[in-house]
Parts: sequence; C-alpha cells; structure tokens
Amino acid sequence: MPFTELQNEMNERAAQGLLRQRRSLQSPQSPHITVDGKQYLSFCSNDYLGLANHPRLIAALQQGAAQYGAGAGAAHLVSGHTQAHHELEVELAAFVRKPAALLFSTGYMANLGVVQALVGKGDTVFADKLNHASLNDAMLLSRANIQRYRHGDMAQLAQLLTKIGGGRKLIITDAVFSMDGDIAPLPELLALCEQHDAWLLADDAHGFGVLGDQGRGSLAHLSIASPRIIYMATLGKATGVFGAFVAAEQVVIDTLINHAHSYVYTTATPPALASAVLESLKLIAQGHEMRAHLQRLIAQLRSGLKDLPWKLMPSATAIQPLLVGDNQAALDLSAALRECGIWVAAIRPPTVPQGTARLRITLSAAHSAGDVTRLTEAINELAR
Ligand SMILES: *Cc1c(COP(=O)(O)O)cnc(C)c1O
Repeated sequence: MPFTELQNEMNERAAQGLLRQRRSLQSPQSPHITVDGKQYLSFCSNDYLGLANHPRLIAALQQGAAQYGAGAGAAHLVSGHTQAHHELEVELAAFVRKPAALLFSTGYMANLGVVQALVGKGDTVFADKLNHASLNDAMLLSRANIQRYRHGDMAQLAQLLTKIGGGRKLIITDAVFSMDGDIAPLPELLALCEQHDAWLLADDAHGFGVLGDQGRGSLAHLSIASPRIIYMATLGKATGVFGAFVAAEQVVIDTLINHAHSYVYTTATPPALASAVLESLKLIAQGHEMRAHLQRLIAQLRSGLKDLPWKLMPSATAIQPLLVGDNQAALDLSAALRECGIWVAAIRPPTVPQGTARLRITLSAAHSAGDVTRLTEAINELAR
C-alpha cells in the first residue's frame, strides 16, 4: 500500500530528527506569543519591524475590506484588479525607484513567475547554492539550463558565465540569505551582469523595509541601481501583511503580466491587503527609529553570544543564526529554550545543507533590550 510507504518515510524522517510539525498560535504575531495556552518570548518570526499586529495596519485592512469586500473574486487580468492594487503598485515602484511594479500573491509565486516568464529552453540561469527554495523551484520550472555556483563565489560565477555561449542569461540570488542572514555581493553580481549581458533577479524578502535609506531595501543599502536588476520583495515579512511584488523596467513588467503563469492563472489577492500594505509603506518610510532600535538589538545579541559551543554566524541583519550542526542537537537546544519560555525554531536539512542545523534567531524592532538579554542569558546558561 502506498500509505505504508508514506508512513515508513515519515518514521524514517522522525528517526533522523527531520520530522516537521506545526504549533498553533493563539495570539497575533509578536515577540510575545501564546502557544498551547503558554506564553513565550519568540525569536523566530520575519516580522522584523513588528508591524504584523500594528493598529494602523489593522485599521487599514478593515477600511479596505469595508470598501472592497473580503475577496477579489477574479484574476487580475479578468476583473480582480482594483484601484487599491493599482495605487499600491505605483507606490511600490516609486519607493524602490523603479519604473514599474507588479503585485504577486506570494514571494514564492513571484519568483516562479519571473524566472518562468523571462527564460526558457536554450537560456541559462545562474544561481547561488544557498538560494531560497522558491528560486530553486523557479529555475526548474523554467526549463532553462541551470548553473549553480558556490555561495558568494564570484570567481566561479565569472567562469560559468564565460563558458556559456548563447541564449538569455539570468543570475538569481537572495539579496539577504534567508537562513544565513548575510547580504549577497550585489555590486559584484551587477558588474558581472554588465560584463556578460545578463539580468539579475534580486530576491529581497529579508531586506525590504529593514535595509537602506527609509527601508528601501538592499539595493538602496548598497547604493546600486540598474535596469538589469529585477527586484523582488515580499510583503509578509517586515511589511507585516502578505504578498509580494516585482519592480523592474516597464517592458519586463509587461512581459510578466502576459507570460508569468503564477500571475495570470491565479485569483488576485484581497484588495484590503493592498490597503494595509499602503499603510505599512508609510510606517516603513518613517521608521528610522524602529530600524535604529533593531540595529542596536543586533549588536547587543552579537556581543551577548560569544565563546559558545555553537557558532553565531557572521551576519549584520535581523537574521542571526546560531550554528549547531547536528539535527537532534539543534532540536534539543530549541526544546531547552522552550522550557525557559523562549521560542526559537530549529532549522534543519533540506532547508539548510546537511550538518548545518541551526537555531535561526530573528530579531524584531518590537523586541526590547530586556527581551534580548533574556535570550542571551538563557543560551549562555544552556551552554554551561
Ligand atoms: C519568504 C521568502 C520567499 C517567499 O515569500 P512568501 O511571500 O512567503 O511566499 C521568497 N524568497 C525568500 C528569500 C524568502 O525568504
């Protein structure tokens, strides 16, 4: 029976410490969450600015629902595209200083759509080995030739680009790597694109709202801009709502509207979400103090987690992974913290490479310095 086979696979995963299980929150996303009736101090959301439960976003969502209803009821190309979606696209494009922008339902779908629409058979995608799963799946879906380079290895990428002859070339990368927290060498990647007439898809799921002047993201942070860059960012992380957008030259956006299957063949997101994101953009643009506070928390965490049996990975962003190595050891550390009322998820293969299981600690501007002290003291205590 195929069921027996599935059960055996699940049992095998459990034995390797790889079984994944969910817990249900009974509270909004925030540093203080309730799970199974118990309060926890949480360090694992992507709500980097603490906006997911912001009263102004909730009010905007309610107002949007009052104006447009609960659901869009159709795809964007049929009758699901509203004025709220349109206004948001105009604002997003201006915010990231690109000629045009297009909303997608999720970041996962945006990546699938961009890669599938821009390249196909005979073209080549060049990808960092630590890219997010959605970029990996996107290149498979596109049926382009795939060339993966070692994490951040520009010399290897240059070699691969030189070797490949015809067809379109698209380099795809996380701008901030989701499980490592380091920032991609975007200026070097852009230089290679110019040299080899390639495009660069930068996935800024973890930089948008957090990095750069007014939270404009990784490109602003590194002071780079180019028509060759196709910028993607998600709206469910620092932005605190849901969805994603791609910002690029108008002709690229037109191509996506016409060819990106994950845009064409899906229902538009509820317009009320667009109303909430519009409000979030205002908070992000004015959020200097939130970002400065987040930077202080990052510095505090890093100075509080030294000389441990586990290595705090080099990262200047809100993603601060503590490398444990063994799957079960990472689960045990996560469970021990939970005993202390602290929630940090263990991340295991295949999300990260074999032997690099880790606690993915994430900080939010909604954390206090006292929250971070509680975490660093608990980890130091467990190390003893
Ligand atoms: C979260 C994430 C995505 C997917 O975005 P969703 O909107 O959650 O689907 C894509 N890329 C990266 C790097 C991410 O971290």
